[in-house]
Amino acid sequence: MTPLIAGNWKMNGSRAALAELDAIAAAAAATPGVEVAICPPFTLIERAVARQPGLLIGGQDCHAEPHGAFTGAVSAAMLAEAGARLAIVGHSERRRDQHETDAMVCAKAEAAMGAGLMTIICVGETEAARADGGTEAMVARQLRGSVPHSAGDHLVIAYEPIWAIGSGQTPTVEEVAGVHALIRRSLAGLLGETRAAMVRILYGGSVNAHNAAALLAAPHVDGALVGSASLTAADFVPIIEAAA
Ligand code: PGA
Repeated sequence: MTPLIAGNWKMNGSRAALAELDAIAAAAAATPGVEVAICPPFTLIERAVARQPGLLIGGQDCHAEPHGAFTGAVSAAMLAEAGARLAIVGHSERRRDQHETDAMVCAKAEAAMGAGLMTIICVGETEAARADGGTEAMVARQLRGSVPHSAGDHLVIAYEPIWAIGSGQTPTVEEVAGVHALIRRSLAGLLGETRAAMVRILYGGSVNAHNAAALLAAPHVDGALVGSASLTAADFVPIIEAAA
């Protein structure tokens, strides 16, 4: 399975910051065994695609409906028309700040896949669930609610423990491997063994140049979803190289 290293710029970046894409694209071209994606803010997608057409450029969210009276929202077809080939849905920051439920995330994922976009569905436990030993139950429940039954080879799952995002903390490699194995089993129950085996399962949460190699070497870790360390080529390129 080709590993996927995806950067999520969140609400960061500017036209000037797109210059980082040049070295990122060069590193991606030099490591053909690794797929590399960057998800900038919506306003930068078209410029990012124009600047580096070889990179996989994506959106950080999409609306579940194709069009209509949804002020501030962007549809999956709009993303695709802008040149995006990927969408992240169900990031924990949106589940928290926009009160997105599993059902809403599932509908967004269906819309993104329907528009032909590779679709990264994010799941991950809260700090409280982890403390109670409830990690696996929470992740399994999110998968049941968020993954469309029609999902095929466009599907990617990102396991992002909420407490690990932006905190500098990560689970141990063994813990990550355990949750990724659970995700693979859950997907097999939802989609069947054959389709589940094709789904890339990314780890996300404080991935950096120092911890990437160990995390990416764990079983069922098929790539990484990277936040702050994706903002500059200096931080992101070593993570791409660690996946090779
Ligand atoms: P981080 O963010 O790498 O800054 O922890 C990851 C994410 O939220 O996808």
